[in-house]
Amino acid sequence: MAHVVVLGAGLGGMPAAFELRAALRPAHSVTVINAIDRFQFVPSNPWLAVGWRDRDSITLPIGPALAKKGIAFIAQAATRIDAEGQAVELADGQRVPYDYLVIATGPRLAFEEVPGSGPLAGGHTQSICTTDHAAQALEVYERFVGDPGPAIIGALPGASCFGPAYEFTFIFSRDLQKKRLRHKVPITFVTAEPYIGHLGLGGVGDSKSMLESELRNHDVKWICNARVTKVEAGKMFVTELDDMGQVKREHELPFKYSMMLPAFKGVDAVAGVEGLCNPRGFVLIDEHQRSKKYRSIFAAGVCVAIPPVEATPVATGAPKTGYMIESMVSAIVENIAAELDGRPATAKATWNAVCLADMGNTGAAFVALPQLPPRNVNWFKKGKWVHLAKIAFEKYFLYKMKTGHSEPFYEKTVMHALGITRLIGR
Ligand SMILES: Cc1cc2nc3c(=O)[nH]c(=O)nc-3n(C[C@H](O)[C@H](O)[C@H](O)COP(=O)(O)OP(=O)(O)OC[C@H]3O[C@@H](n4cnc5c(N)ncnc54)[C@H](O)[C@@H]3O)c2cc1C
Repeated sequence: MAHVVVLGAGLGGMPAAFELRAALRPAHSVTVINAIDRFQFVPSNPWLAVGWRDRDSITLPIGPALAKKGIAFIAQAATRIDAEGQAVELADGQRVPYDYLVIATGPRLAFEEVPGSGPLAGGHTQSICTTDHAAQALEVYERFVGDPGPAIIGALPGASCFGPAYEFTFIFSRDLQKKRLRHKVPITFVTAEPYIGHLGLGGVGDSKSMLESELRNHDVKWICNARVTKVEAGKMFVTELDDMGQVKREHELPFKYSMMLPAFKGVDAVAGVEGLCNPRGFVLIDEHQRSKKYRSIFAAGVCVAIPPVEATPVATGAPKTGYMIESMVSAIVENIAAELDGRPATAKATWNAVCLADMGNTGAAFVALPQLPPRNVNWFKKGKWVHLAKIAFEKYFLYKMKTGHSEPFYEKTVMHALGITRLIGR
């Protein structure tokens, strides 16, 4: 009987484990391996970074949740994948053999590409990419509100995940307004995107004018085509390019607080596998989410290689959002289940981009179907309903992870109402 290993228990890996368990016959076993023992709901990190959430409310212990469904869990970092030998090697020396491996390890945060960036030793900017980073960002923010000054928020060259940078800008601004401190904090949005609202997607609907308008309404200045070259304590060095990629202006921007999203790469254990990944360590897959080189390996989520939507003066990547990740997971589960039943693996994910971005008291949602333009559905809308929907998304997703439900009926219904399906042709 087959052993399916899911590597990474984030937004992709946890649902993958639950869906696999539900889809496979009981004789097959499922094991999840994750570097830490708690699931983190990454989309809530911007709230944690301003104190609107605490760590416990957006994380949960992985082991007990998986155990309820008969899924084994190993809380260890993978150090190496022996793709030829079909085994994962762990930091404690264990070797876990598999018949199928589902890689869902998310991003490695490439702060090293911009000297002085990031929240680790020697870095001067904050991050909201992990719960630990967001908690650290909160500590810095709490000191900052006692001695406010200029703030810089945005995305470094090569970034692909721009939505949370906008989201955090509006949440940060809103929290300072609540504290009656906003007038003491000039905010500059610094982004690798060629224009506001590009989002790594070539824009979605009217995202350019709507997000520009929102930034203006929040008194936020911006610099696009921004190549941040280095960060020193309290100072960011930015080369602004023009549309032709020529230097337009050099900036030295002072700041007392900064949160910059980094470029992503694949995690080392995955990137190191011969022939598995592109040069940035993202897994090269076919239309069925399967490794182009290793037939027993599938991949979902941020770890997957997706080409940029278009060339931009400063490098940008295409985002991988939650719903798109779910669609990848559904395709993988269906394909592994089919093969184990002796049928061909034919399921293909839709890769539709659906995103809810909170703005503190309102929010913006976009739907890009398909992700790459030209699109059949291409809209970007703002309203308080998005803020409420984002809260519901958080509560609902955490509930699903606690109880092991992967896709209860009403979620399907809502998505169908929007004309969104997870698998092509369904
Ligand atoms: C701040 C932020 C906000 C976001 N908000 C939204 C949003 O509102 N809506 C949306 O649709 N998308 C959002 N996204 C994009 C995307 O949905 C998330 O990044 C999502 O968490 C990606 O899921 P994933 O499973 O690929 O990776 P992750 O959720 O990051 O999970 C990866 C897991 O792999 C584990 N891991 C990594 N390396 C190893 C290893 N070597 N061994 C074992 N385990 C390992 C990690 O510990 C982690 O648990 C956001 C992204 C960010 C950064």
